[in-house]
Amino acid sequence: MMEIRNINGNSTRPTIGILGLQGAVEAHADMFAACGAAPRVVLRPADLEGIDALVIPGGESTTQKKLLNFNQLASGLVQRIAAGLPVLGTCAGLVMLAREVEGGTASKLNLMNIKVRRNAYGSQLDSFEAYIDIKGISGKFLAIMIRAPYIISVGEGVEVLATYEGRILAAREKHLWGCAFHPELSGDNRFHNMFLEYVKENMVPAATPA
Ligand code: GLN
Repeated sequence: MMEIRNINGNSTRPTIGILGLQGAVEAHADMFAACGAAPRVVLRPADLEGIDALVIPGGESTTQKKLLNFNQLASGLVQRIAAGLPVLGTCAGLVMLAREVEGGTASKLNLMNIKVRRNAYGSQLDSFEAYIDIKGISGKFLAIMIRAPYIISVGEGVEVLATYEGRILAAREKHLWGCAFHPELSGDNRFHNMFLEYVKENMVPAATPA
């Protein structure tokens, strides 16, 4: 069997950075650990070194953006992602990734070719759960929507992964993955596994020892 090594050549399991400034951090860490990856909470620039992918969790996107700047993480993070680091943005993380946020609200990281509507289903009280179909996952998946956004439109190069009642809830643009729901809270690791498989496929195979 071919050994898998990460980009830095020193690990046999993917290290998944989870932006830990605010929001649903631990649940993502638990999910990735259950999938066989090594989670690492990212709080400062040095934590970005050696990660094979990054998760931007749910929470509150305006607060996350402020804390990113405060912790001097924004530019390093954008550089790594622009250079191809796989990233999964969930809920607020999806808003963070979008190039366009409806209503003139400034975009956050300005990376993914999508337009999103924040708090699209109303207030916290309008949070809900629904069983949805996701491309690449067989059978229904429980989408937990907490003060969730949805994707209003996608640009060129973006593949829609899930819709619900005509609205786009998950999409992917090459290494940029985003979903409006909280897959880390559904007790079902198939979405994390699908992302992890993509990360593994894009890791550099170890050179055969001489
Ligand atoms: N409403 C939040 C925002 O737009 C996202 C909510 C969530 O991540 N559960 O930042």
